Amino acid sequence: MTKRLFILGSTGTIGIKALEVVRRFKNQVSVSVLVANKSWKKILKQIEEFTPKKVILTDYESYTNLSKSVSKSKTKIEFGLEAVKEALENYKDDLILSAFSGTAGIMPTYWAVQNGSYVALANKESLVSAGSLIMPLAKKMKSNIIPVDSEHSAIFQLLAGKSKKELRKIILPASGGPFLNVPTSELEKISVNDALNHPVWRMGKKISIDSATLANKGLEVIEAHHLFGLPFEKIDVIIHPQCLIHGIIQMNDGAFFSHIGEPDMLHPITYAIFFPKRVTYNNVNMKSIMNELTFLDVDTEKFPMLKLAYEVGKAGKTYPAVYNVADELAVNAFLAGKIAFNEIHRIVARVVELHKPFEITDISFVPELEKETRFLINKIIKKEKSQL
Ligand code: MN
Repeated sequence: MTKRLFILGSTGTIGIKALEVVRRFKNQVSVSVLVANKSWKKILKQIEEFTPKKVILTDYESYTNLSKSVSKSKTKIEFGLEAVKEALENYKDDLILSAFSGTAGIMPTYWAVQNGSYVALANKESLVSAGSLIMPLAKKMKSNIIPVDSEHSAIFQLLAGKSKKELRKIILPASGGPFLNVPTSELEKISVNDALNHPVWRMGKKISIDSATLANKGLEVIEAHHLFGLPFEKIDVIIHPQCLIHGIIQMNDGAFFSHIGEPDMLHPITYAIFFPKRVTYNNVNMKSIMNELTFLDVDTEKFPMLKLAYEVGKAGKTYPAVYNVADELAVNAFLAGKIAFNEIHRIVARVVELHKPFEITDISFVPELEKETRFLINKIIKKEKSQL
């Protein structure tokens, strides 16, 4: 039987990789629904190649452009988040790949879990902001969440068949980003292009900047906390610049287990799509990847976003959600040339400090919190500028 894939974010880095998996395993996977924001020209090509039943764009102008271009297609073209919600209900037996970038991915992930779907989760923001709702809901609705984030996929694979009671800790490797060897004093002058230039991974803009500040690892620590049900004391981070080891666990008796492989998102995506089966395809030569493996402690003074992530994670409530939203908005401001690289942390820390936390009881807090944070961050940026 072929699996049917429903991709939230088919024109992003993860979505494109997932379609590469479909291309490689044509007789085992097909595409049912593709969702994207604006990239209608890219999705036009995807319609021609994969003939999905439905395509949804969340940007109206792009939707009208696409509609005009595919009049003769069998693919239904729809617009908006309501259409996404409805499609997730109608296609709930399909495999949902949640691969939107950022906060926009939280609601669709929640809907998919609510429907009891099998969810391959690449959108880490979902668990960071709403993990305390999503994980219990997944259990209740029997929704299987398989991580696509490479570190979490590795840890997930390592934990299989092991008792959590016998687990001492998990260790998430971090590349260290493009500024690992740049002195702290020079971080103030970092340009957008420098920050986007990740030494190993080719990724979207938001996650590239997050990798440069190590906020990405911070988000991943919180993601792991929810995904594996572990206290923050049992989650460590280590710098491993080669990105060949994707996850490490240590058992109570001192034994370490690690997951090693090419740094290519194709692997965790393929694993999540075919889980629990492993497909045969990649006969990689061990010597080609087992070069020098080095490990360093994280300098949290230089990369304070990671330290802050542990703090908001431990504080719980809406703190991780506000960290996540504030980071996303600060990164956008940096990409737009409005703030300097170092200001990302200063602004996020200030927003977290001013935040009045509350217990999360239902998912409706997400858009509300986003609105409030956007207002606050704009005020802070204006104030910082006026003080210069
Ligand atoms: Mn990752």
